[in-house]
Amino acid sequence: MDIRCQNLIGGTFSDGANTLPNLSPADGASLGTRPDSGRDEANAAIAAAKEAQKSWAQVTAPARGAALFRLVRLLERDQEKLARALSLEEGKILPEARGEVGKTMRYVEFAAGDCRRMTGITSESEVGGTLGMTLWRPLGVVGLITPWNFPVCIPLWKIAPAIAAGNAVVLKPAPETPATAHLIAELCLEAGIPEGIVNVVHGDAEPAKALIESPDVAAISFTGSTQVGLMIEGECAKRHKRVQCELGGKNPLIVLNDADVAMAAAACAKGAFGSTGQRCTATSRAIVQSGIADEFVAAVTEAAKAVRAGHPLDEATTMGPSVSERQLAQVLKYMEIGKGEAECKTGATRLGGDLASGYFPEPTVFDHVAADSRIATEEIFGPVLSVVRVDNLDDAISAANGVRYGLTGSVFTNNLQDAFHVVNHLETGMTHVNNPTIGGEAHMPFGGIKDTGVGAREMGPDAWRFYAEEKTVYINYGGGARKGNLF
Ligand code: NAD
Repeated sequence: MDIRCQNLIGGTFSDGANTLPNLSPADGASLGTRPDSGRDEANAAIAAAKEAQKSWAQVTAPARGAALFRLVRLLERDQEKLARALSLEEGKILPEARGEVGKTMRYVEFAAGDCRRMTGITSESEVGGTLGMTLWRPLGVVGLITPWNFPVCIPLWKIAPAIAAGNAVVLKPAPETPATAHLIAELCLEAGIPEGIVNVVHGDAEPAKALIESPDVAAISFTGSTQVGLMIEGECAKRHKRVQCELGGKNPLIVLNDADVAMAAAACAKGAFGSTGQRCTATSRAIVQSGIADEFVAAVTEAAKAVRAGHPLDEATTMGPSVSERQLAQVLKYMEIGKGEAECKTGATRLGGDLASGYFPEPTVFDHVAADSRIATEEIFGPVLSVVRVDNLDDAISAANGVRYGLTGSVFTNNLQDAFHVVNHLETGMTHVNNPTIGGEAHMPFGGIKDTGVGAREMGPDAWRFYAEEKTVYINYGGGARKGNLF
């Protein structure tokens, strides 16, 4: 792959002031280049978006939906190309990349359908001859700041509802994954989404800050780390700017004594080691009742040892690399911390040999981890599982909730009451029963609580409402002056 990624501003592709290489995390191979833009490019994109949005807001919602349906068909046509680019630059294995692109089509399709469901309310008024109703109006220009770990689906699960609601967007994708953002930009243009409605500015923090600070950007939708998200939330609050942040996680999978242990261990391994542990919904803690703990740890350790790390395009590979040297360094740091805090069952090293030129951590299981230790409470974002042993359900809930994060969690049990006890008491935005912690569907809300989530949920039937303002209208159809209490 050799893609010269460019900014898309007002329908024109251009290089930024500076250019940086895009390198594969699997072996350091060159994948092309990307602009390293600053504030000037971001401000130019905001200006283009502001101009274009005026006419987009006049396009009817069903016609905006038709453009999104055309985008779905193009995503379908190019799904293999997108999946390979994603796999090469982010490092997830090809089947996972194909899965991400497949899900993305469902998100865009759902937002396209929403364009015929943007209904408000109608109501009788207190006053005779008057009708009350609400309409949804776009916000204007929206800034989208996204991470590298789902570089196809997260940009599009924001772009689609934002433009469905009549906004223009400026996407600032993660610097680690520019090629997928470039391909998305090309497809948006080809789909006939008017020039200036989808703008893309590559770079790191500087162009993102321009979006946050610009008075012409009405809202920010951010997905990324809690550290950056909390800062963005504060900056938006100062400017009275609408903001939505989906941030870090430390997702627990609870296994009770009556669970199907083999099923729980398989789900746990999928959540912990799949996508190299770089899913926001990854399982990073197994909270296991003592009666089945030994059996569970043996099964999950065996699963970790069976993971085959390698080049993400190689069919035999079941785990690709960490996305970057920085990310690998973070994972290795926590492996060292873990060795001092708990019992290492397997892993806790960087893989070498044929894989030495890539950023490959070894799938790792720590056992007898204290619920309040660093490896059990801080986000690692790598294939590292901490097993916390507990005596009973209450201890499991209290261990699970003893972190600042609250994205997702799951419980494995055959007892309905216990399952609902966890559903009701787990401090997460999403809870699974007898399922892995990972996964999300287009028509279901997605997001977290506590330090994981701020603002409206993404996906689901209300996703587009974050990008719209509800206007209340009273219509006097009775003729004559309005009567009654006008307070
Ligand atoms: P990150 O916070 O480092 O970067 C995210 C985006 O913010 C990137 O586009 C980056 O360029 C930009 N950015 C960085 N510093 C900035 C600054 N000072 N001001 C403005 N923008 C800035 O996160 P990441 O490493 O790309 O992604 C991994 C993180 O994302 C993990 O913490 C993960 O849990 C989280 N995540 C959460 C969800 C969710 O839905 N909750 C989904 C995916 C990823």
